[in-house]
Amino acid sequence: MFPLLPLRRAATLTATLGLAAAAAVHLEPPASASLQGSGNARRIFIDAGHGGIDPGAIGNGIVEKELNLEVALRLRDLLEADTADPSGGGEWEVRMTRTDDATVSLSNRTTEANNWPADRFVSIHHNAFTSSIASGTETFSFANGTQGADLRDRLQEELLTAMGFVDRGPKTANFFVLRESLMPAALTEAGFLSNPGDAAALAAPGAVEALARAHLFGIQRHYGLAPHLPVSGPSTYCF
Ligand code: ZN
Repeated sequence: MFPLLPLRRAATLTATLGLAAAAAVHLEPPASASLQGSGNARRIFIDAGHGGIDPGAIGNGIVEKELNLEVALRLRDLLEADTADPSGGGEWEVRMTRTDDATVSLSNRTTEANNWPADRFVSIHHNAFTSSIASGTETFSFANGTQGADLRDRLQEELLTAMGFVDRGPKTANFFVLRESLMPAALTEAGFLSNPGDAAALAAPGAVEALARAHLFGIQRHYGLAPHLPVSGPSTYCF
């Protein structure tokens, strides 16, 4: 959650998302720079928004930090399966902000990604607003015309295809994790937990899988790869 917030939570959110003015340190290559790696695995840092004492948005029975983590964990598994699958897709190394309900500060999120260093930073969130009418998908980068913006655009497209929500468009924002990450970064808000329609779809069986695949396909397309759903590892039933 972030852009549209109940006023009573504004102060908390300002702290949570680091909206206070700060010098921009996010210096990434322009979109025209080559997206092709050296042939080595691309390092993808997955940031499951919120966690621990910070639940994020809550609406229609969904707690944002929980849904963010479910999608992030499944995305990690898909990226690792893609690496193991020689029939297509890409080769990835994955690290995560958190793999459970841990409390992680914003600065720790970007510091870990910067120190790795990650090639891309993907932050997974879900939205909320005071009015239940607000709905749809929006994805953010720090600036336009950057590799982060390209990643943002591909993620937005894939999320729209996967969920069929209202297209609120790709946007820029001075969010802490987008500003302080030194690599191209994007932050997704697939839908509004405060909207009954979005929430029902996000809670439906298969939603987490659809959301994770959308992120996978968006990352693949950002790197010029055809969207590829990896075959899962060998089943024990095959032996
Ligand atoms: Zn959030």
